[in-house]
Amino acid sequence: MIADFEYFAPKTVEEALSLLSKYKEEAKIIAGGQSMLVVMKQRLLTPEYLIDIKGITALDYIKYDEKQGLKIGALTIHRAIEQSPVIQKHFGVLSAMEGNLATIQTRNWGTIGGNLCHSDPAGDPAPVFIALKAKLKLASPGRERIIEAEEFSKDYLETDLKSNEMLTEIQVPTPPPHTGTAYEKLMVMKGDMGVVGAAVSITLKAGNGVCENARIALSNCSSVPLRAKKAEKVLIGKTINNGLLTKADEVAATEATPPEDVHGSVEYRREMVKVFVKRVARLALERAQKA
Ligand SMILES: Cc1cc2nc3c(=O)[nH]c(=O)nc-3n(C[C@H](O)[C@H](O)[C@H](O)COP(=O)(O)OP(=O)(O)OC[C@H]3O[C@@H](n4cnc5c(N)ncnc54)[C@H](O)[C@@H]3O)c2cc1C
Repeated sequence: MIADFEYFAPKTVEEALSLLSKYKEEAKIIAGGQSMLVVMKQRLLTPEYLIDIKGITALDYIKYDEKQGLKIGALTIHRAIEQSPVIQKHFGVLSAMEGNLATIQTRNWGTIGGNLCHSDPAGDPAPVFIALKAKLKLASPGRERIIEAEEFSKDYLETDLKSNEMLTEIQVPTPPPHTGTAYEKLMVMKGDMGVVGAAVSITLKAGNGVCENARIALSNCSSVPLRAKKAEKVLIGKTINNGLLTKADEVAATEATPPEDVHGSVEYRREMVKVFVKRVARLALERAQKA
């Protein structure tokens, strides 16, 4: 049973922020409720005040221009990202990732902001945003701050959000030329949370095909979405070949500290990190070569 709470349904960001400031730690935001209701039913959270932001239509948008990049409002549902023609054209990795996130029903109601703020290290969007060098806009009364997506998760189900802050926007820069990005996760069934997942972005130097930059982020390999910086260094400045990919995937596996549960042991997950980093990096490389 869910504990009693007082319910608010603000229609503007300002209204929501003023409620958050008033009730602070005793209040929690609910958006689509796809994760929030689960933790409330488990009584992991028993907020006295529930601030339902789903009606703030100003935070439901997808905007793109080449200079500014992509901007996604926090209340955009997963299904809209999956189906957005502009995202399919310029950030195909995002729509493909969404296509394997949960079921259509969950994607139709759950929001991208709720996913990131739930801060489940097995979540799919965070590693993709980290590979894409995305930033997050966090608003509090009279103030906004922008942080790197990779700085947002602090621990399992914990974020950098202060009690009077909410996530309002995800900003994804247009990738440099000759960049390819890919994401895949190991699923027991399509739409499952990943046993492990890997997002890789590779930028090649024009002309000689040397790897100018690489970003590798792993899901379900730590208490937060994990950037595998040592593995990235294996690739940067080199011409990527099969041997180098093997070295990078082995290094990524040493950086991973995955959980152990019914879906796999730590050792199994580390082996799967190798498989997925290599597979996904190869795909990102192919895309970079065509970009
Ligand atoms: C059956 C099922 C399968 C799933 N499978 C996957 C999967 O394969 N991959 C995956 O990545 N996810 C998966 N999920 C998780 C799902 O993506 C998230 O539950 C959903 O996106 C959360 O969005 P929401 O709008 O429902 O957030 P809510 O559940 O309403 O909120 C989640 C958390 O975020 C906070 N919050 C929400 N919005 C904001 C905001 N704008 N600012 C500050 N705090 C905020 C809430 O306070 C709460 O702590 C699955 C969920 C279900 C139920």
